[in-house]
Amino acid sequence: MALIVQKFGGTSVADTKRISAAARRAIREAHNGNQVVMVVSAMGKQTDHLISLAKELCDRPNTREMDMLMSTGEQVTIALMAIALESLGHKAVSFTGAQIGIRTDATYSKARIRSISTDRMRKALDEGKIVIAAGFQGVDDDFNITTLGRGGSDTTAVALAAALKADRCDIYTDVDGVYTTDPRIVPEARRLERISYDEMLELASLGAGVMHSRSIEFAKKFGTIVHVRSSFSDNPGTIIGPDVERVDAPVCGAALAKDETRITVIGVPDEPGVAMRLFSKFADAKIPTDMIAQNSSAKGRTDVSFTVQSDDALRARDVVAEAVKEINAERFEIDENVAKVSVVGLGMTKQAGVAQKMFHALSECGVNIQMIATSDIKISALVGRDDAVTALRAAHRAFKLDVELTEEERSKSAGSVQIPSDSFEKGVSTHLISHLTGMEDVVVEGVELDDDQVRVTLYDLPDRPGLAAEVFDKVAEGRIIVDMIVQSVGRDSLANITFTVPREELESVTAVTKQVCASYECHSEIDSRVAKLSVRGSGLRSHTGLAYRMFKTLSDCNVNVSVISLSERCVGVLVDKDHGAIGRENLQREFANETF
Ligand code: ADP
Ligand code: ASP
Ligand code: MG
Repeated sequence: MALIVQKFGGTSVADTKRISAAARRAIREAHNGNQVVMVVSAMGKQTDHLISLAKELCDRPNTREMDMLMSTGEQVTIALMAIALESLGHKAVSFTGAQIGIRTDATYSKARIRSISTDRMRKALDEGKIVIAAGFQGVDDDFNITTLGRGGSDTTAVALAAALKADRCDIYTDVDGVYTTDPRIVPEARRLERISYDEMLELASLGAGVMHSRSIEFAKKFGTIVHVRSSFSDNPGTIIGPDVERVDAPVCGAALAKDETRITVIGVPDEPGVAMRLFSKFADAKIPTDMIAQNSSAKGRTDVSFTVQSDDALRARDVVAEAVKEINAERFEIDENVAKVSVVGLGMTKQAGVAQKMFHALSECGVNIQMIATSDIKISALVGRDDAVTALRAAHRAFKLDVELTEEERSKSAGSVQIPSDSFEKGVSTHLISHLTGMEDVVVEGVELDDDQVRVTLYDLPDRPGLAAEVFDKVAEGRIIVDMIVQSVGRDSLANITFTVPREELESVTAVTKQVCASYECHSEIDSRVAKLSVRGSGLRSHTGLAYRMFKTLSDCNVNVSVISLSERCVGVLVDKDHGAIGRENLQREFANETF
């Protein structure tokens, strides 16, 4: 007898008719001889409605009471679902997060799951009941109701599947799978038959709202196979599982985070440890930051830019105002009219010219790139919000994500669509469960040092559409493989671009840099004594404390960080070559308890 977790999102339980349809799906699974746990969301747009009620009363409602309020949406659905199942003749029992024993930390609206006790669910399942669990909620040590963050029912579902060692976790939603990008924005997007945990985690974290990114962290950590499919049809859907060999394509999908906010802290004292203190404030407030770029230092001061999600912008404003005083910076600026367009793919680690292709695509449709940040499996460009959809479409098209696979390509990836029945045992799960103190604790796979890098910084380039495309065209002409790229716009609309290349490219990159400087009348700096330190794992960007601990560990052993790249599976920093080994040693010690 298999155990299956089925999750139904808001649209899939929007009215009683749909609740009945979901109930019938669960019964069908039970009639096939399986035990079934259902996880349900609030009906339709109920969570939005509850939030708007609170906002009618107050701009910044108390966070404990907001969680109390929002959790009621799911409570309505579980009861109705149990009623629907019983009316269809099947035994059922509904549980809130607290009743099911989902223990979380006390971070209201973004609580992380610490533990799940499965006894009550097991007992009900053994009695032949379908168990219905409220998604998105838990309870802290003081029995306060907490919620996991918008879209968090996916995380409840995968976490329950992991805790119960379920054979499968089916996510029923209003699209029939994971697409190459949001099909509502780009209708020519294609459904993927299969996607790897790392790619899905990165896409979800960069804006692909089809899955809550933290659910994918769970899935990867505990080896849970996730099947995303439509609640309105029996189409095959998408399997999210371990890495897949993909047919030559460097990019598997594109994502848009439409509501981003850029913060620039101006005049930060250029002293070791200062930027670290700035980010510690954000880590403490559990506000994830992305696209961190540091501008050139003038008179001992630098400007530091980064992005946060607009949902966090109000709190971020308070945090940055306090930080500016504390670190003695000059002032800060906030731009709330930006969006982040990203492409993601495991294949880009092996191919040159991927970033250049993206910059070209944006340039050709006249979109100005305000910031660039790359990491091992993603490239992100910050653009004006009005340009967001144009930029997403252009990037999607540039990587031929809209082109149907050939029969041969399809059959190459189809073999792996089978769900491996022993995936749970294959996952790192058994080993992990005995080590983790909390189910959502961050997992580190290792610390790496690459001390064969050269850093190139181009200062004071004219900030206009096509700049990055032109610069990286010249680099590509020299057949130079580029690693980290960071572009930020500085004062007076002048842009800085920093990138790294392998040391063997020193000669050719020096020649290219000369050319670029001559044509733009800009100046440059080439540092051939740099090393890249990377921490690998999963969920590294959204576990806000991790990058901060990395910066702090390095600052404590007097290692200065110049360039930062962030993704969910890798945080990379550039340091002085002479400090690479000591940095690695200290990082290994710092993360010893989380490394598996
Ligand atoms: P649910 O309420 O079922 O959790 P969501 O609205 O959270 O549903 O997620 C489904 C939506 O995610 C889709 O309707 C689609 O517009 C959006 N989406 C964003 N990116 C993607 C993608 N890459 N593939 C499929 N859907 C996506
Ligand atoms: N109801 C919650 C929300 O709308 C959780 C979820 O649907 O996943 O965010
Ligand atoms: Mg959702």
